[in-house]
Amino acid sequence: MNENELKMFKRILLDRKEQILKNIVEYKSEIGELKSSETSDDADLATITIDTALEETLTKKQSKELDEIEYALSKIDEGTYAICEMCEEEIGIERLKVKPQARYCIVCREIVEKTTI
Ligand SMILES: [Zn+2]
Repeated sequence: MNENELKMFKRILLDRKEQILKNIVEYKSEIGELKSSETSDDADLATITIDTALEETLTKKQSKELDEIEYALSKIDEGTYAICEMCEEEIGIERLKVKPQARYCIVCREIVEKTTI
């Protein structure tokens, strides 16, 4: 991976990070509004509970992605970005375009997924 490509992925990661931070703030304020709004109707309350659970799941997912992005950014600084952590081969650009915070190449990712489940 050359310098320009590395800069491009850094930009992508930073943009994504910004977007996630915005999303999390939005989710949190929405959840806050829902919780503070007065509800007497049972049906409404049920809907709110489901919505809140969904939002919390989304927030958790985004927080996890945020950690992965932070990690990828630290690897850019260390000069180890785009190198598979398992086989130490370079991760393909096409794969990184789909998932810029990828830690493993496609082959290793499959192995990791099989062993962690
Ligand atoms: Zn690998």
